[in-house]
Amino acid sequence: MSQYANLTINGQDLWQDLVTTAAFGGTEKGGICRLALSQEDRQVRAWFEQTCKALGCTVTYDSMGNQFARRAGTHNDLPPIMMGSHLDTQVTGGRFDGILGVLGGIAVLRALHAANINTDHPLEVVNWTNEEGARFAPPMLASGVFGGAFTEEFAGSRADTDGVTLRHELEQGGFVGQEQCGQHPASAYFELHIEQGPVLEAEERTIGIVTGVQGMRWYEVIVRGRSAHAGTTPMPMRKDALLAAARMIEQVNAVALAHAPEGLSTIGIITALPASSNVVPREVRFTVDLRNPSESVLQVMEEDFLQRMQSYAEANDVQVEIVPTWNSPAVHFDPRCIDSVKASAGDFGYTMREIVSGAGHDAVYVSRVVPTAMIFVPCLHGISHNEAESATPEDVTAGSNVLLHAVLKADKIF
Ligand SMILES: [Zn+2]
Repeated sequence: MSQYANLTINGQDLWQDLVTTAAFGGTEKGGICRLALSQEDRQVRAWFEQTCKALGCTVTYDSMGNQFARRAGTHNDLPPIMMGSHLDTQVTGGRFDGILGVLGGIAVLRALHAANINTDHPLEVVNWTNEEGARFAPPMLASGVFGGAFTEEFAGSRADTDGVTLRHELEQGGFVGQEQCGQHPASAYFELHIEQGPVLEAEERTIGIVTGVQGMRWYEVIVRGRSAHAGTTPMPMRKDALLAAARMIEQVNAVALAHAPEGLSTIGIITALPASSNVVPREVRFTVDLRNPSESVLQVMEEDFLQRMQSYAEANDVQVEIVPTWNSPAVHFDPRCIDSVKASAGDFGYTMREIVSGAGHDAVYVSRVVPTAMIFVPCLHGISHNEAESATPEDVTAGSNVLLHAVLKADKIF
């Protein structure tokens, strides 16, 4: 362990920050409604700026309104080591999703400030704009521009349900900085986040060493049969699109089970036409979501899925068309960053496991341009995107301690 072996973050201050910021958009059920660039988001952004400035940081914005709080190092020509996540929430969001990654970063700055420790690299805490996509779709919009996944024009043109664009709201809030989004240099990026799933809690482990994010592919399946009278058409003479779809859906499930436990498949939406009680359905559409941590296995799953759909369509005398609608390749985080996280968790003696994120995060896009890793801590029953989202003070403190020491290790590596 380093010369700062005994250095920890202040868990009480961190918890107080979680409580303080939860008031910006706080809901009756104990959650938060803080949509990107709303009045409530502006309040928490102002809080972020004040709090970081009080710790001696400078705060700047890039052209997508991403907020960077910078603590100087001893070698300020080095690109900074960044920590962060997002402060916006879902409509009925919780108190931890995203928020912990930003406030954990502030807890790290506070610990260094209190101990009067100077790192070689400057350290920065980032608040990425519009991660949730709840107001402006798609999610991870500004980190996506940072990582080169979206153009700034596209991102700025995204509008909410009232037709108000993200660009308009950035300008209204005074959040448009001089720096072009994506031009901000960085040596490494660490994102602390609640797991948003049940694995750590079930296994009673404190720290998830996130090695990457699973690949996801979406499709729309269109099954075409023939409409027919429900009373006059004998069973053997039907081309029932819904019956065929039901059998095909069973096969979508089988694709994931054939690649257990990592393979996942979900049908989330299904519609049938003409949607009449006494007509045999002529057309059924359903969505398919396939996931796997390995891109090559995901490819095999896709081929298996396409083949099963085709053969079941033929066996049921219907036509099938499959349209890919989204493809998010599997992400593998930087080994040096992963090792820094793992070694830090080990230094503290925290129980841990490696884990692949099932959800998207800002780190997905940031990792395209900056060496990146993530740290997970458990959340109650794996519940997230919900006002009931909960995590313990002990776990969020542990995650922030790992963040602190991962950053200190990275300071010597990069
Ligand atoms: Zn999040």
